Amino acid sequence: MSKFFSFRRDFLALLSFIMLGIGMLCVGVLASTSMKEAQLMRDGRSEAMRWADELLRIVDAAPVGAQQAFLNDEFFVRRATMFSRVFAFDVFDKDKRLFYSTGPADWNLTELSFDILKSPVTRYHLAQGETTTKLHTDDGTGNHSHYASVVIPVKSVNGYLGSIVAFVEQSEQAQSLATSFKVIAGMTGAMLLLAFGIFSYIVLRKTRDRAEAEERVRFLSGHDELTGLPNRKSFDEHLVKALTDCTETGQYLATVVIDVDRFKDINDAMGHSAGDSVLRYITELLKSNIRDGDFAARIGSDQFALALSSLKRPEQAAVYVATLSEALSAPVWINGEQIVCAVSIGAAIAPGDAEDATVLMRHANLALGRAKADGGNTFKFFEQGMDTAFIRRRDCEIDLRRAIDSDQFELHYQPQVDLTSEAICGYEALIRWVHPRDGVVSPGYFIPLAEETEMIIPIGNWVLHQACRDAAAWSRPLKVSVNLSPVQFKPGDFVDHVKNALDTSGLDPSRLELEITESLLISSTGQVVEDLEQLRDLGVSIAMDDFGTGYSSLSYISSFPFNKIKIDKSFVRSMGRDNAIMGIVRCIIAMGRSLGVAITAEGVETLEQREILKALGCTQAQGFLYGRPMSGAKCVEQISSQQRIVPEQASDAPAAGGAV
Ligand code: C2E
Ligand code: MG
Ligand code: MG
Repeated sequence: MSKFFSFRRDFLALLSFIMLGIGMLCVGVLASTSMKEAQLMRDGRSEAMRWADELLRIVDAAPVGAQQAFLNDEFFVRRATMFSRVFAFDVFDKDKRLFYSTGPADWNLTELSFDILKSPVTRYHLAQGETTTKLHTDDGTGNHSHYASVVIPVKSVNGYLGSIVAFVEQSEQAQSLATSFKVIAGMTGAMLLLAFGIFSYIVLRKTRDRAEAEERVRFLSGHDELTGLPNRKSFDEHLVKALTDCTETGQYLATVVIDVDRFKDINDAMGHSAGDSVLRYITELLKSNIRDGDFAARIGSDQFALALSSLKRPEQAAVYVATLSEALSAPVWINGEQIVCAVSIGAAIAPGDAEDATVLMRHANLALGRAKADGGNTFKFFEQGMDTAFIRRRDCEIDLRRAIDSDQFELHYQPQVDLTSEAICGYEALIRWVHPRDGVVSPGYFIPLAEETEMIIPIGNWVLHQACRDAAAWSRPLKVSVNLSPVQFKPGDFVDHVKNALDTSGLDPSRLELEITESLLISSTGQVVEDLEQLRDLGVSIAMDDFGTGYSSLSYISSFPFNKIKIDKSFVRSMGRDNAIMGIVRCIIAMGRSLGVAITAEGVETLEQREILKALGCTQAQGFLYGRPMSGAKCVEQISSQQRIVPEQASDAPAAGGAV
């Protein structure tokens, strides 16, 4: 509608300008015509006056009574018309009767009296201001195509005596003026035309620019600017239509959602232009892989969606998604660097998975979530049950966010004991979430979710500060161990947080131990090792937690000088029953000893396990045998009592066996 109005406005502007141009042209022509006429009239009058003045001067100079004769004298008449362009004249008396006329050829004089010429005392003069001039074309003889008739009243002091009508030849003047005015009119026309041309160009250009801008706005409202693909809005609209079509034809429709894994890391590490190139690369790949009638869109910063319609069998979608996943995981050169831009793909198929576009899209997203949760770089199709798992996870995420703001976390402490002296040498801080509805939630449940959502960063900082505060208040200078997540190193300011926690609590850095896992070193950049070195320089100890559960590459152990290695409880649990595991534990302890690193065995539950570990040369132990994680208050009590822990075998602890 608005387009119509703007078109109408432009059209009217153009039309009015054309009218104005034509009007100005007419005015120009009229003006030049009237200027030409005025010029001819002026010319005719001045020529006639000059001539009449001369005529009367001659007549006046003649003796009284001879004037008539003069006028009758053909020679005089010829002389009178010889040196001017007056080619004929008439003389009228004061009663306007023709007294004398040169006539066309025969000097046909009348006998009428011409009083003025008889008076001896009379001096004639011409009433110049009272002349009237008329312009004529073609006198009928073919001799004068343009001429002027000028009526010149003749007066004396006594009053009006008569008048002379002079006919002035103007053919030449008219022609030269016509030529000049033609040039002027032509130039004016050309200038107007030029002005019109420029104006029209500007108007048309503006109209075209506006139309293009409107077209672009319309395009962008339904498309993504970077890739040129349709956007989420267009995709949603298309999906509704495609779903209706597929219901009518009895065919299948697959909705595929594609998310680039760790897109933020690509942007952070290689810059946003590389991120843009990745998105364009994926766009091209999608375009070249879809069939006619399929629909590809960019529905989020690093998310794409496909609608694969007219499928005869659902398996076709599976084949397509598998091929696409493989194509997308091939290495690609971006900005001179070869990278693998892994993607996670989720898909749902109508009518089986959903009959409504919104639900179909939600189910494809659930499948995508599953693919992401499985580590990414894979694809998943929607399955019943994903829905409830998703809802549970989403609720948990909401609760966790709330927990950060409303102080629902607590720290429990588990003692770590020196195996030689059996004295407590420190405590490990273990987080507990006291959920207002569900009670105490184990970190094993919520820490992975907190890591995925990066909520572990504020949670981890809280743990760090709280543990330092608690330990600073203990009556004995025991060590406190704090577990770290690799995610906490991402923002790059972790060392500052540690310094801050030590400063505000006043805890000596030598009493703080940070536990990291192998996964931190696996995915680490040089920055992580630098951070760890800075922490060690502060005097903080670094422990390798859960050793043996990850890749257990010796290169990780050698990549950083750890202060302690903690043998995972799964080894401790099985070592009495499994000779192979026993061999591994023996190896780890021997390696620790040769590196001069303290070795703590986790999950020590039985006296037998303690004896085995002692016999193998393990330096420290931690486990239910020495105490379960306890509240901060209980921990303070235990430290203050200065009691030596009496190992107490758990009633449900497995029996030990096997040889050392
Ligand atoms: P972890 O660091 O290896 O901590 C030891 C886990 O083993 C604790 O589980 C502890 O209660 C349990 N444990 C200790 N002795 C025994 C035993 O004799 N038998 C058995 N079966 N288990 C024993 P918890 O407290 O559930 O913590 C689980 C994991 O959660 C921790 O493993 C740690 O990786 C993580 N975690 C705990 N607190 C934090 C935290 O503040 N930050 C981070 N990032 N992770 C934490
Ligand atoms: Mg730990
Ligand atoms: Mg551990």
